[in-house]
Amino acid sequence: MKIIAMIPARYGATRFPGKLMQDLAGKTVIVRTYEATVKTNLFDDVYVVTDSEIIFKEIELCGGKAIMSKKEHECGSDRIAEAVEYMDVDIIVNVQGDEPFTSKEGLEKVLNVYKGNDAHKIDLASLMTEIKNWEEINDPNCVKVIVDKENFALYFSRSPIPFQRDENIIVKYYKHKGIYAFRKKALMDFYHLPKGSLEAAEKIECLRYLEDGKNIKMAISNTKGIEIDTPEDLVKANEVMRPGTVSNSSENFEFLNKKTANKMYRNFPMVPKIIFGHGCFSQLSAILNPIRKNNAPFIFLIDDVFKNNQTFIEQIELRNNDKLLFISTAEEPKTKQIDLFVDDIKSEFNHLPSGIIGIGGGSIMDIAKAVSILLTNTGNTSDYQGWDLVKNKAIYHVGIPTLSGTGSEVSRTTVLNGPERKLGINSDFTPFDQVILDPDLTIGIPKEQWFYTGMDCFIHCVESLNGTFLNTFSQSYGEKAFDLCKEIFLENSLTENDSRAKLMMASWHGGMSIAYSQVGIAHALSYGLSYVLGTKHGIGNCIVFRHLEEYYPEGVALFKQMLEKHQIDIPNDICKNLTPGQLDSMIDVALSLDPLWENALGVEWKTIMTREKIRSMYLKM
Ligand code: NAD
Ligand code: ZN
Repeated sequence: MKIIAMIPARYGATRFPGKLMQDLAGKTVIVRTYEATVKTNLFDDVYVVTDSEIIFKEIELCGGKAIMSKKEHECGSDRIAEAVEYMDVDIIVNVQGDEPFTSKEGLEKVLNVYKGNDAHKIDLASLMTEIKNWEEINDPNCVKVIVDKENFALYFSRSPIPFQRDENIIVKYYKHKGIYAFRKKALMDFYHLPKGSLEAAEKIECLRYLEDGKNIKMAISNTKGIEIDTPEDLVKANEVMRPGTVSNSSENFEFLNKKTANKMYRNFPMVPKIIFGHGCFSQLSAILNPIRKNNAPFIFLIDDVFKNNQTFIEQIELRNNDKLLFISTAEEPKTKQIDLFVDDIKSEFNHLPSGIIGIGGGSIMDIAKAVSILLTNTGNTSDYQGWDLVKNKAIYHVGIPTLSGTGSEVSRTTVLNGPERKLGINSDFTPFDQVILDPDLTIGIPKEQWFYTGMDCFIHCVESLNGTFLNTFSQSYGEKAFDLCKEIFLENSLTENDSRAKLMMASWHGGMSIAYSQVGIAHALSYGLSYVLGTKHGIGNCIVFRHLEEYYPEGVALFKQMLEKHQIDIPNDICKNLTPGQLDSMIDVALSLDPLWENALGVEWKTIMTREKIRSMYLKM
């Protein structure tokens, strides 16, 4: 008999979207569930069935088996049925994706019913557990089941069943648990049957089987799982996973607690080609020529600060229908702006361009990355804001920074203001194919701008080095960048040439440091400022960072010395005249950035960082 487990996994759960991709002690919830299921040794195969490429990739990445479901499904059983339709299997057990502590005991019980003498009568098996608490018995969210003397289900209901007219009779109440072991035929019948009226009225899937005359054998199981339904559940689950926590419900804890041995490490791309050196920009044509495709132009996206700089422009050798587009960075990049660039390029040329070359500060770096992605991915730019939502490889793209500090020349993300939030397109296809680091391009930057963008690098390092996500990889890059920043901004020993070269490398190292960790509180708060007030990234970080002594004492003290040394004024009272609504949306944007807070304050950050706390911090700025 071939027995498999299927874990239906929807990405966009209504109550807690993206919950299956949340971190649970170093691995995602879905990977935890998958591994716990495999570990029971009860199955010939274990699959995750999902509608989400993100989850699909996540499971593949950990060496697991995943299936993309093609169709929209109303329920998990349909999703599983589609996946097993052409598989040669006998029994299929569904395991809930959000139950990372799935216990062997429960799964074993539901499978054991097929070993009994009445096995031939069973179409599917499921679990129930006795409940005694009246509140639970009366709770319509708790589905009750009644059974005959052989434990075949008679009915499932959200009402308390049976109704106890005679209080002298002892009755037991059982709660239904959504774990099933289906015979393949029963599952396929379910898939093809119309919804029954009892099923529709009670909103209980398994009534469809009873209405169709099928036999559901119930087994009793008393283990309690921890379902992850809310962010609070996740905090609890993380607590359970802490090393040293004693397991009380399943043997899987023991294996899950071997945290470091099982940790899933991120596998991220780096820029494959990079040139560094004074004047290396002159090699641009030599780099591009072999990449050029017939008739397909290179599109140069250039900060419009260079528009009237003839000497600079003459260094770019244009051929055929290559195009220069000068872009204002007076405002930070927006998803809408990317949509427009992409539409223009597509309507002007019949072919996709040979490549996109971005020349400018962090804003242009991000615009170039985003445009190159959207040229090969349909839909709107905002569809791709988030982690790993990009499906197709971007077209060839080159980054040539003319301002140092953001690290965006090396990072895996592009930061964009979208209709709902400021968030990056973070994907394996985002990083540049080629970067040209020529410190001479940063000559002539106004002092304030040099400082603000340089401080972005410094703040990246402080946030990464003080974060809970820090590992040796991040630390080694972060420390180097931190030291370079101190040398550049606090010492007097460097020539201007050296200072520019060092800041360029500090930016690179700072970017590498956060590639494997995360930024923190300054960035979360600065994103809120930028979203509501349009405050630019570098200055926004500086405005915020001054007020973060409590969290980053050493970094903030050094920052204040830097401000003093370079006589930089930071605006005050910028939140003073905000309406309550504006302040609220600022807080919403800041609070939506879970990974940043978690890096800064740990998994229980929500107990530390409240709306009120953030409000009072904004009001100081
Ligand atoms: P920027 O690109 O917005 O440029 C700031 C100003 O400097 C502009 O007025 C620009 O015209 C001018 N400028 C650029 N190069 C110049 C030069 N050589 N000479 C004179 N003036 C020059 O600023 P930035 O601080 O480099 O970048 C900020 C952006 O980077 C923000 O949009 C932020 O969200 C983004 N960012 C992205 C990442 C990432 O990982 N992708 C990380 C941090 C920041
Ligand atoms: Zn930054």
